[in-house]
Amino acid sequence: MTLIYEGKAKRVFNTDDSNIYRIKYKDEVTAGNGAKKDKMEGKGRLNNLITSYFFERLAKEGVDSHFIERMSDTEQLVKKVTIIPLEVVVRNFAAGSIVKRLGFENGQAFEKPLVEFYYKEDALNDPFISDDHVKLLGLANDADIAELKRQALIVNETLIKIMDEMNLKLIDFKIEFGKDSVGNILLADEISPDTCRIWDKETNENFDKDVYRNDTGSLIETYTKFYNKLEAL
Ligand code: UDP
Repeated sequence: MTLIYEGKAKRVFNTDDSNIYRIKYKDEVTAGNGAKKDKMEGKGRLNNLITSYFFERLAKEGVDSHFIERMSDTEQLVKKVTIIPLEVVVRNFAAGSIVKRLGFENGQAFEKPLVEFYYKEDALNDPFISDDHVKLLGLANDADIAELKRQALIVNETLIKIMDEMNLKLIDFKIEFGKDSVGNILLADEISPDTCRIWDKETNENFDKDVYRNDTGSLIETYTKFYNKLEAL
């Protein structure tokens, strides 16, 4: 099977079926656009298990994604899509870049979820862009932008519900979308503690990559704890 793409956290392979890719989750963790990088045994497995769980739950709630099935501890089969180079971020509480950039207080609740677009371009450091920039760059038209926001907000509702069952709160998350062969917009990539901020409802304890970004704890222990909570649902 041919490797067709290698990213920071995953490898994508062709399969015998021209409509299906195999994704292998890697044991690598990066932060700050690759400025910080480490190998962590077991991380690929945890993110594959967690992402698979989320995509299966989302499908049950009516949100389709590229996910077909989990193949092994570290692999999944997905529908082939062309990734739209946009990071779609949804925020329920202020944290991370919005605190630094706009001065909100860390953990401050937003009245309604905020949807933002970032241009996925490593050489430019994934800058925040407006809807007009999205159109100017030719990444999506008005209808596509509306569809991306609509799906992002449904994903948010579903993830909030799952986190709530675990006594956790969903601070923010990043998702990516792709287009299938007939132009349908489909949720893709991954949803894991690498791409979400998740805090304990009572203690604000972190269950996400911030423990690695900020050197405040063991990533594998944190993700394992999160996965155990998810499995217990
Ligand atoms: N995020 C991500 N990949 C990125 C940038 C952000 O998965 O390249 C996620 C991040 O984990 C958080 C949300 O998107 O859940 C918002 O991130 P933010 O803009 O605050 O950026 P950060 O300060 O984390 O770089």
